[in-house]
Amino acid sequence: MVKGLVLFSGGLDSVIAAHLLKRQGISLKALHFVLPFYSGIGFSYKNIKEYAHALEIPLRIEEEGEEFLSMVKNPKFGFGKNANPCIDCRIHRLKKAFKIMVEEGASFIATGEVVGQRPMSQRMDCLHKIEKSADLKGILIRPLSAKLFSPTKPEIEGLIDREKLLDISGKSRKRQLEYAKKHNLIHSTPAGGCILTNIHTANRFHEMLSKSKKLSLFDFKLMAYGRHFRINGNKLVVSRNESENNILEKFHNEKTCFFEISDIAGPFGITDSIIDTDTKNLAASIVARYSKARNENSVNVKIIYKGKEEEITVKPADSGFCDKSRI
Ligand code: SF4
Repeated sequence: MVKGLVLFSGGLDSVIAAHLLKRQGISLKALHFVLPFYSGIGFSYKNIKEYAHALEIPLRIEEEGEEFLSMVKNPKFGFGKNANPCIDCRIHRLKKAFKIMVEEGASFIATGEVVGQRPMSQRMDCLHKIEKSADLKGILIRPLSAKLFSPTKPEIEGLIDREKLLDISGKSRKRQLEYAKKHNLIHSTPAGGCILTNIHTANRFHEMLSKSKKLSLFDFKLMAYGRHFRINGNKLVVSRNESENNILEKFHNEKTCFFEISDIAGPFGITDSIIDTDTKNLAASIVARYSKARNENSVNVKIIYKGKEEEITVKPADSGFCDKSRI
């Protein structure tokens, strides 16, 4: 039977948290949350599966959606430097994790949090605030910093040996890297991370909120991909590579217009709504601008919407117009 649920991003800290408990013989389940940007579009989560498999811990993957969006629209504790509502996000996830903990028959939740590692959500006072708001007092354990906290219920009851946990604090990853090396642990690299901490995503997010308070999950997910433009009040997203082409194709639905260069391989475009003829021409010219035919005088662009397909011929937009329209 599973005794503990470990929040598992696949990063260094969560892998070590899982390992510290697993090596004590505690039966665990790893819980991986997927941000809404990557939910429901067929990603395989291959790396995460590999990291959990290497630790011999079963994995549960939870894709985030509407609930995450409601949280991010109105975070009680505000945003960090960019569009990252880290304190609310942690509370939201821990509350969700608690429900899953109960479902799985586990008795505690472990995380890879380290005191003082991140400015917003990992200050000691914030960690206490998060724990209290998520109603997890006594059953939330942070194995990497455990000795800096009061003993939790599983430690008091003898399920977890506190002496075998750590007392890491601060931004340096030195001790974690040494630990990972010593135990041959595999984990994801720190690069990448949550796109809400990225300045460009933050600009897109706040621009969207300034245009409409009715931010949909579709709008939110789209933030993670492509080049973004605002034309005649509508959003156009143009893909940057083949992998984004595949993703934009999946986003196309009865409420969007989809753009594809007719005669050559090139970027795709998608709008956030059905648009009028003038806007279609502008959107097609921007899509053409990012294709190999950018220096041609005329380019054929296919537009698919509401189950129909039409082809128009446009002159690729000039870079001045693209820059002016870009978000
Ligand atoms: S970095 Fe992103 S995923 Fe992590 S707590 Fe902050 S908002 Fe949530």
